[in-house]
Amino acid sequence: MKQFQFNYESEDKLLSSIKRIKQWCNSSVVSNVVFQIYSETLNKPKIQDICDIIDKELPDALYMGTSTCGNILMGNKSEGDISIVCTIFEYPSTNVKILQYALDESKAYEVATDLRRVVRENPWVKSITTFTTMRGMSMTDYCDYLGMLPKKIVFCGGGAFSEDINKSEAFVFSSEGEISDHATVFLLVGGDDYFVQAMHVTGWKPLGRYLSVTKAKGATLYELDGKPAYETYYKYLNIKNDENFFNNTLEFPFLYELNGMDILRAPIASNEDGSIEMTADIAENVKARISYGDPWTILESVYNAAVSFQDFVPETFTVFSCAARRTFWGDDEVGNETEPFQSLAPTSGFYTSGEFLRNGDYVNQHNVTLVIEAQREGDVQGKEIPQVEMDTEEFSGKVSMINRLATFIQAATEELEDANKELSRMAITDGLTKLYNRTEIQHRITAKSIENSSMGSHGKFSTGASLIMMDIDDFKHVNDTYGHKEGDEVLRKLADMLKRVLKENSIEGDIGRWGGEEFMILLPSADVERAERIADLIRVSFTNIVFSHAPSQTLSLGVTEMIAGETSDISCMRADDALYEAKRTGKNKVVVK
Ligand code: GH3
Ligand code: MG
Ligand code: MG
Repeated sequence: MKQFQFNYESEDKLLSSIKRIKQWCNSSVVSNVVFQIYSETLNKPKIQDICDIIDKELPDALYMGTSTCGNILMGNKSEGDISIVCTIFEYPSTNVKILQYALDESKAYEVATDLRRVVRENPWVKSITTFTTMRGMSMTDYCDYLGMLPKKIVFCGGGAFSEDINKSEAFVFSSEGEISDHATVFLLVGGDDYFVQAMHVTGWKPLGRYLSVTKAKGATLYELDGKPAYETYYKYLNIKNDENFFNNTLEFPFLYELNGMDILRAPIASNEDGSIEMTADIAENVKARISYGDPWTILESVYNAAVSFQDFVPETFTVFSCAARRTFWGDDEVGNETEPFQSLAPTSGFYTSGEFLRNGDYVNQHNVTLVIEAQREGDVQGKEIPQVEMDTEEFSGKVSMINRLATFIQAATEELEDANKELSRMAITDGLTKLYNRTEIQHRITAKSIENSSMGSHGKFSTGASLIMMDIDDFKHVNDTYGHKEGDEVLRKLADMLKRVLKENSIEGDIGRWGGEEFMILLPSADVERAERIADLIRVSFTNIVFSHAPSQTLSLGVTEMIAGETSDISCMRADDALYEAKRTGKNKVVVK
């Protein structure tokens, strides 16, 4: 592969660049010539001139182009508003093909289906690079359809935008179609000697606790944790709803996982109702965290990504970076994150507001992300492994203040989350026996009785859910004779035995401590016969427990099946009656009511 990268300055200069390309082609083995044209301006006549010149001078060459939020040439933000990248494939086995389709929401399925057909008919395809207009359509369905492409095909690309992110105009074009405001272009490349790899890097790190996306539709985020999304944003970041909203939120996009990939979405603007417009569709019912961008963290991620490409020995890189990253760094410094790739191979691409990348079964549309595609022709064997050039000293020593603070917040949040989990556990647990406490077991019985009542409530109706209530016989005597500590041991050993019996009999059940030496078991799927058998097993097992000082003890048990339509209090009272009868009629027995 060979690449020529230059900015469009004038027709004459373009003609002389094309002359150089022609000279190179004449002196080498060439299989295909592909131009990528990136335009930060929306000047269609100028673009048309460029297309006409290429058509005339290199009629066999293919080209594709897009309007952009800025161009990337030689690993850096390009000064020119129209940038041209000419890739020359040298291996005869390498095939290329460009497709252009009209695209809007109603055509999304058709487009993806036809692309699949083309891929099926051309089994050599290894990668598909897309430029696509996105305005006015939800990309979620389109991405789902594209996900049906064969898994082995690397799929990536970027959305068409323009220099002014707020402008809705954008276009794509190619040697196969007109300059169009609603279209998508695909470059298919493949062949035995063509190799391709793609990955994404964010560098943005999660900050603080998880927030649930409780309501979202398309690119509008309505609610976080059941509250208007803006409220949460304001609470944590103190970002006001003014004209600087976008710039201020840029450093703190939302990060969530979708289809096994980390997805970033930046808020663009907030609406009157407290909802927030995001850069693209945000999934409902995901757990998102605010994330932060820190230059050193980003550089480290970018460096690691570049290093991971070394062994691939890339010949060219195509990058799709988010316009938000350009704003984040500023034009003078944004090159920092693409230069490491340039140190391995010529790197070109553009800034967009939607980066596409396939991962496993899914095509994801990212934001605030850098998607990198590496290409090569021929074997790596015999080729020297290139090394990323980057002054890593510079960032390994400099952990910025924001990075330290973010690490602090993250660690503190995790501790709080763990402490909260422990508190929630403690709130439902009895300290001595580690069984559910009275409140929790009652809560569970109530929930079950509500579930039962939905099954119908006419008279006695077998619900298949039973209760076992039990009380240690003459327990006061243990305390009085062997001390309170021994009494505690009896309670703990009883609790352990109850758990063991349920487990050994593979019976589902919730066990709670009802009071001092009283216990309650809810068996949600045991009829009264089964519950009686379990109760008797418990009774016998208890008599077999050996204690430190006290001799063997006994239990009385009451068993009942819950009846559809009755309240949990009534079911519990019947179990209590049964237990009382067991006590009254001699103890150490099971009574069923
Ligand atoms: P019955 O056979 O009629 O149930 O007689 P009992 O002695 O078991 O019943 P009673 O209600 O008279 O006594 C229960 C005793 O349980 C009284 C109380 O001190 C003891 N107890 C309650 N909670 C605990 C505890 O957490 N630890 C210990 N060691 N004893 C407890
Ligand atoms: Mg007792
Ligand atoms: Mg008692």
